[in-house]
Amino acid sequence: MLDIRIKNAIIIDGNLTPAFIGDIGIRGDQIVAIDAMADDSADLTIDASRRVVMPGFIDMHSHADLALLAAPEAESLVRQGITTIVAGQCGFSPAPLAKKYRKEMLRSLAMFLSPEIPVPWDKISTFASYLDCLERLKPAVNVAPLVGHGMIRAAVMGYAADSPSREQLHQMQRLVAEALDAGAFGVSTGLIYPPGSFSTTQEIIAALKPIGRGGGLYFSHARGEAGTILDAYAEAIEIGRQLDTAVQISHFKAAGRQNWDKASPALRLIDQARQAGLDVAADMYPYEAGWTYLATLLPRWALSGGSLRTFIRLILPNQRRKIIAAMKAGQGESIDHIEWDKVFIAGSSIANHVGHSAAELAAREKIDPYEWTLNALLKTGGKIQMIIMVSKEDNIRLQLRHPAMMIGTDGMGMSANGLMRQGIPHPRSFGTYPRLLGKYVRDEGILSLEEASWKSSGFPAQKLGLKDRGVIARGCKADLVIIDWEKVSDRATYANPWQYPAGIETVILNGKVALNQGKLSQERAGALLRFTHR
Ligand SMILES: [Zn+2]
Repeated sequence: MLDIRIKNAIIIDGNLTPAFIGDIGIRGDQIVAIDAMADDSADLTIDASRRVVMPGFIDMHSHADLALLAAPEAESLVRQGITTIVAGQCGFSPAPLAKKYRKEMLRSLAMFLSPEIPVPWDKISTFASYLDCLERLKPAVNVAPLVGHGMIRAAVMGYAADSPSREQLHQMQRLVAEALDAGAFGVSTGLIYPPGSFSTTQEIIAALKPIGRGGGLYFSHARGEAGTILDAYAEAIEIGRQLDTAVQISHFKAAGRQNWDKASPALRLIDQARQAGLDVAADMYPYEAGWTYLATLLPRWALSGGSLRTFIRLILPNQRRKIIAAMKAGQGESIDHIEWDKVFIAGSSIANHVGHSAAELAAREKIDPYEWTLNALLKTGGKIQMIIMVSKEDNIRLQLRHPAMMIGTDGMGMSANGLMRQGIPHPRSFGTYPRLLGKYVRDEGILSLEEASWKSSGFPAQKLGLKDRGVIARGCKADLVIIDWEKVSDRATYANPWQYPAGIETVILNGKVALNQGKLSQERAGALLRFTHR
């Protein structure tokens, strides 16, 4: 007797096996049979004729960790077929929190979740306490947690741009080791965000020592994705080489028109590292726009010392002039040449900013867009985010085809209704995987369905050391997505991201139905995954 039987499906196993037609039998949380099972009865039989069944997607780059603490149903994830997220990215994670710097640390997380949305912060201090809290909330997806290096550094020395003392380095190592002991898969850095941006390469290598020799993975939002991309990616690879551990380059992109020709050499850096025997891979989301803090347009030094210092600099006329000169000279953290008509305000405490370009908003006030940006940062207390058009469509196709490229959303857990509908999120939070399958696989033929599935589940599982997920095989956990191949597409746009995709019909998570013919179930069967040392 089976719990669930999926009949007559076009099976894509996530492991590059050519598609085949068959049945899938599920008992408990496991796949127990794959073939024709004419005699075996089941509690629930799903007729998947003319439907594609794939492993649920493993989102290699998710910022949904904060949202899960407030809204564990994770609707925008489940509805695009995601069953596992790798959270704690770009140097940010909900823990560890240090008493001394707690307020500023929580402020730094506000980019990922509006502070008005309630999170049980009183239950979170150490990394272990965060994982306990998350587990008790029963998230609707599996979570593979990373600890953010930015949080570790902030917990030890706040947002100072200074170098750590020997004792402070030891404290950072202790916090990394604690997170790994609790179950973290590794550490992420976000080297354009304070305080991670203040760390030298050698400091990072020293602080991350506990992930050395495969003790954990290293995920890097590199120090630059624009003019300095090649140096930045080389740094990420070097950190992995010196630590003797696997490297994941996050949300790969060559940002800004004058850097588009750097995508190929950046991919070659990854090739060379792999040829030299290093475990280096990357992930990407298939969109031309990025999404981040407006403040990342400022030069690094302007962001040092915590937000109060930054605001003082934004007030003093001579400092303002210096900041603008540096931005014009290409020293901004996220992009070196700003096209103001391609910078759209995605979230702001001033409601009438949202949805307009910085060029438009500056023209409305009859001031220069640099001045407008500095004013807007001051007026909103820095709580202002942007969607910025940075990538070239041809590069997206080139990157998707690269053998070391996986898929990650860089998105958040959202909902089209209720509390979790705020600002203008990047459409990737709703549509990454349906867009990959509809636009790039079916419509443009950039990848085969088998390749897309490998990059969305089999390959990430292999990298993470998840031996029983990411593929459809006997004995594996039953994390599956059933897709109407003719209909699958993303519907979220930059102007209206609050739209769930089409064609993602049914999602099964740990053997439980999470989405049933488009209806979200109340069952939240996500597991907290813990890293097992390889
Ligand atoms: Zn990032």
